[in-house]
Amino acid sequence: MADVPAECNIKVLCRFRPLNQSEIVRGDQFIPKFQGDDTVVVGGRSYSFDRVFPTNTTQEQVYNTCAKQIVKDVLFGYNGTIFAYGQTSSGKTHTMEGKLHDPHQMGIIPRIAEDIFNHIFAMDENLEFHIKVSYFEIYMDKIRDLLDVTKTNLSVHEDKNRVPYVKGCTERFVSSPDEVMDVIDEGKANRHVAVTNMNEHSSRSHSIFLINIKQEHVETEQKLCGKLYLVDLAGSEKVSKTGAAGAVLDEAKNINKSLSALGNVISALAEGTKTHVPYRDSKMTRILQDSLGGNCRTTMFICCSPSSYNDAETKSTLMFGQRAK
Ligand code: ADP
Ligand code: MG
Repeated sequence: MADVPAECNIKVLCRFRPLNQSEIVRGDQFIPKFQGDDTVVVGGRSYSFDRVFPTNTTQEQVYNTCAKQIVKDVLFGYNGTIFAYGQTSSGKTHTMEGKLHDPHQMGIIPRIAEDIFNHIFAMDENLEFHIKVSYFEIYMDKIRDLLDVTKTNLSVHEDKNRVPYVKGCTERFVSSPDEVMDVIDEGKANRHVAVTNMNEHSSRSHSIFLINIKQEHVETEQKLCGKLYLVDLAGSEKVSKTGAAGAVLDEAKNINKSLSALGNVISALAEGTKTHVPYRDSKMTRILQDSLGGNCRTTMFICCSPSSYNDAETKSTLMFGQRAK
């Protein structure tokens, strides 16, 4: 693997969704107080991030401030990862996907798809691009291919350059934003078919969309590769207080383990390269190893509910984000 520079590039952005109708009806309080563009005060304590997005921030503003640059970097051969972390219903999927076919409400992934092809069309005609995407989820530590429902337990391998990858995962070549959207729609439809309650399922699994970009100069044959992982994490809520048992408790323990493994990797990276980075502690961090920290672009969205009802979870989410700073 390439040399890892001393400084790594991790951005942590915090986004609060608006109060929803049932919270308003219940009479919940709106708890965050926004200060400047990088600080939020909750329960008398202030939390600072690279950026804090208050509830009225548009999808376009979010994209322009944080994801646009990553697309350029990936086209220059860097790897990157964008995560959304937060409790269920805090706005993770809204941020990553949004409403896929609505130009105003679409989230980061469809905007990236459009942006990649816009850049490519404006680039040197002697560059040939090969773009492929994969879409899979990790549920109970098993990797399921969302583009081939027969693949329900894929494993992580390393290629000859020791770069980890999901072996046998479907890869689709795409040549337009519409083709990317078709792949997302297909993956989402497969996911629906495989489970009885989609909302419950999506809150307990990590979904990962991978965009792989290879370019080659037709005359010099010079090659450049970059890839971008887009990760909608499982809900971070603690289930203990609901008195969970059996399968639900197993799921919760599993989620907890994988999210804390991710938190440990991110905080080790944020502390600098002198510390050991525990990539091998979970499947997700193994997969993301060459796209997290180091010479990569890493952005984490900390998604929060503004409601007093979710006060404890919101504080715990904000603390998770602070560990990366
Ligand atoms: P999660 O994926 O974290 O479980 P969702 O993204 O599904 O949460 O959001 C829950 C609900 O709140 C959805 O109906 C979504 O459209 C809405 N929502 C989330 N974030 C925002 C936002 N910033 N502005 C408006 N509505 C939002
Ligand atoms: Mg979701």
